[in-house]
Amino acid sequence: MDLSLTPEQNAWREEVRDFLDQELPTEWQKSTEFCEDEDFWEFAIAFTRKVSAKGWIGLTWPKEYGGLGRPTIDQLIYSEEMTYRDAPIVNTIGWGLAAGALLSSGSHEQKLKHLPGIAATDQLWAEGYTEPGAGSDLASLTTSASRDGDEWVVNGQKTFTTWGSHADVMYLAARTDPDVPRHRGISIFKFDLKQPGVSFGPLFNLGGGRQNHTYIDNARVPHDNMIGTEGRAWDMIMGSFYGGNIGAAYMDMQSRLDRLVAYCKTTKRGGRLMIDDAVVRDRLAEMEIIIQSQRMLTYESLSNMQAKRPPVYAGAISAVVQKEAMPRFAELTNLVVGPLGQLALGSQWTPMGDDANGGPEAWFRHSFRNHAGGTSQVKRMVLATRGLGLPR
Ligand SMILES: Cc1cc2nc3c(=O)[nH]c(=O)nc-3n(C[C@H](O)[C@H](O)[C@H](O)COP(=O)(O)OP(=O)(O)OC[C@H]3O[C@@H](n4cnc5c(N)ncnc54)[C@H](O)[C@@H]3O)c2cc1C
Repeated sequence: MDLSLTPEQNAWREEVRDFLDQELPTEWQKSTEFCEDEDFWEFAIAFTRKVSAKGWIGLTWPKEYGGLGRPTIDQLIYSEEMTYRDAPIVNTIGWGLAAGALLSSGSHEQKLKHLPGIAATDQLWAEGYTEPGAGSDLASLTTSASRDGDEWVVNGQKTFTTWGSHADVMYLAARTDPDVPRHRGISIFKFDLKQPGVSFGPLFNLGGGRQNHTYIDNARVPHDNMIGTEGRAWDMIMGSFYGGNIGAAYMDMQSRLDRLVAYCKTTKRGGRLMIDDAVVRDRLAEMEIIIQSQRMLTYESLSNMQAKRPPVYAGAISAVVQKEAMPRFAELTNLVVGPLGQLALGSQWTPMGDDANGGPEAWFRHSFRNHAGGTSQVKRMVLATRGLGLPR
């Protein structure tokens, strides 16, 4: 197994790095998911449109749908660099979830209609899956869409809508046929959030930032805005969750670890540099192992995608490892920095107090965002049933 990159791939990495050097303020660190400042959003949208202008949002998509038709390995290199630098790329639901579903299950007309706009970041998308009574058990969703001529009339409530109040449209799952088994009769729409009948209530997240309750009262969506096939959205929900892109979440941990190692190399505790403490070194090593295991699982996914093989164990091992690594990584950070790691930014005693992303205290709170996209317990069930073939 040779994991080294070709000269062209290394040159591509340099191109992405040069772009980031040019477009991001020095020492940029800010998490899109947890920042609600209007200035930040303006900057993030402008930044994302610059990425769009280079064609990189649709890097691997076919050219006829607004993409550049590049290989998936280029996508991974791009994701690694963007994630390492905390690049403020917004519209994850548009280019990740919606585009992934369209590419795998959309008709040619649907791809032509939606993908070029997503590649250009013309609208911001939110995800409308979860409801107050339907989270892990998503098939129990009750938001309804009833056909009325060329339109559907939508009623119901979504919750945990990340970026909802910033978004223009929602990737909405609604029940279009109540008279069939519950895994059937669900359809997906591109749903306009800026219309009468749609309102939001705040849902503040312990990790920082805001998810939302989304209330939908007799709102409308044209039939032409359906994505995939009527009543068959369950297969899409199961098969293409964020399937359009390959992510590199481990690079977020890598940048944190690099900052932590630099801190340990320059900070003394008990009269000696922290990096010389065997216990600290042991914990830093465990953090690096966490990162490398995720990197290897991602490379395995990449190789399967390139060979058009299905993901091993239904993709569930990497999901479980990633979700369970986040709190462990945060815990190890706190074990390294000690009790002062509980201090938020603003105190002179906060370790790495110049970290614009919040330092260890915020890293710890952020690590519990891992329910997004399905909990690790549910991913373990997928691993058991679809991956290992065990009975339900
Ligand atoms: C930061 C964040 C952002 C999110 N963003 C969005 C978004 O933009 N759009 C959206 O639609 N949703 C979003 N979600 C919602 C997310 O998809 C749900 O939180 C997730 O699917 C779990 O659903 P739930 O919260 O209702 O928990 P529940 O399903 O009620 O689960 C509660 C607990 O029970 C466990 N559990 C449930 N069923 C089983 C079972 N059968 N076996 C074993 N354990 C089980 C779960 O693992 C969990 O620990 C977000 C969530 C978070 C935390």
